[in-house]
Amino acid sequence: RSAGPEPGAHAYLDVVDISKAFRGTTVMSGMDFRVARGELVSLLGPSGCGKTTLLRIIAGLTSADAGDVVLDGRAITKVPAHKRNISVVFQSYALFPHLTVAENLAFGLRARGMAKAQTGPQVADALALVRMSDFAERPVAALSGGQQQRVAVARALIVDPVLLLLDEPFSALDRKLRETMQVELKSLLRDRGMTAVFVTHDQEEAMGVSDRIAVMNAGRIEQFATPSDLYARPASAFVMDFVGLSSRLSGKVKVSEAGALRIETPYGEVRAKGALAPGAKVVVGVRPELIRREAGENTVRVALADAMILGAKTHLYGASTGDDRLLCELPGIQSGLERGQQVTFGWSVDDTLVYEVER
Ligand code: ATP
Repeated sequence: RSAGPEPGAHAYLDVVDISKAFRGTTVMSGMDFRVARGELVSLLGPSGCGKTTLLRIIAGLTSADAGDVVLDGRAITKVPAHKRNISVVFQSYALFPHLTVAENLAFGLRARGMAKAQTGPQVADALALVRMSDFAERPVAALSGGQQQRVAVARALIVDPVLLLLDEPFSALDRKLRETMQVELKSLLRDRGMTAVFVTHDQEEAMGVSDRIAVMNAGRIEQFATPSDLYARPASAFVMDFVGLSSRLSGKVKVSEAGALRIETPYGEVRAKGALAPGAKVVVGVRPELIRREAGENTVRVALADAMILGAKTHLYGASTGDDRLLCELPGIQSGLERGQQVTFGWSVDDTLVYEVER
């Protein structure tokens, strides 16, 4: 099995060989996914790749056609959702708008049989946790989106779940608030040692919050690794394209000798490390901040299509042909660049990623 903690590590959540089809259309088959205790893992992938389906199967909200969900050594595949003690936070918050914040939080405790009079201290603790103590008596409908999302997180945590699942919880929030919520959530879960699975299609969000990220594509996990490994060593051209920005050239292997490749591209010859047969069609990639505006071990000359000054950095785009693109990221504000002028981009052989194009 490929997707999981290091061999030997004890998996807390172990999703084994799951298959699921909707009306005869297979969404995933043979899915394995393992999470260690206390880990915060993201499922990242484009719309429709099966993230939500996998999350719902873990929660027990969708039944799998085959396979098992094992939590802390116990198969829970046949345990109904409400008996799993797994909390789910949805994008839509799913709060009761007419109830107050405190009533929303008490609801989960009362559903588990706690007397109303006893809920007070736990509600107060949960509100303090998400810095919403001053809002206890407000109706939820009178809160901002960010405040509602804090209440939803508090409601998920108040029942002390064995696992927390979050499905695009921040996608309705603006960018700055999202980042604040990401920072808060991460430290909240860390402090409690909570194990959590976070669904997102936003790669920056996944990079920011996760210990590890499972990159999904069409019902498969393409790579399951730490954010830095995913970025520096993407396992496929799909992962390279989906996580972070990259320059990307199509090419064909001309010479392959002792682990060194010479690749013909529309921008000239590029060298890379690898063992592929001459004639193999490939995609060559480089992270934009590893490209310099000077000759390197690999060098291309290209007409400048655009210089985007982004404040802390400037993006230089070379004229693109088809799916190929050249993007160089330089620090700070780079002025005096003219569209159409010839620029030199250079980078090292070690920084050159190469993937055989599927035949
Ligand atoms: P998104 O980011 O858009 O939410 P996702 O990666 O979470 O996408 P899923 O919601 O898991 O993807 O859906 C995976 C596939 O299964 C999609 O093709 C979807 O149309 C299909 N699907 C999901 N739920 C159902 C359902 N209840 N009935 C039929 N098809 C479904």
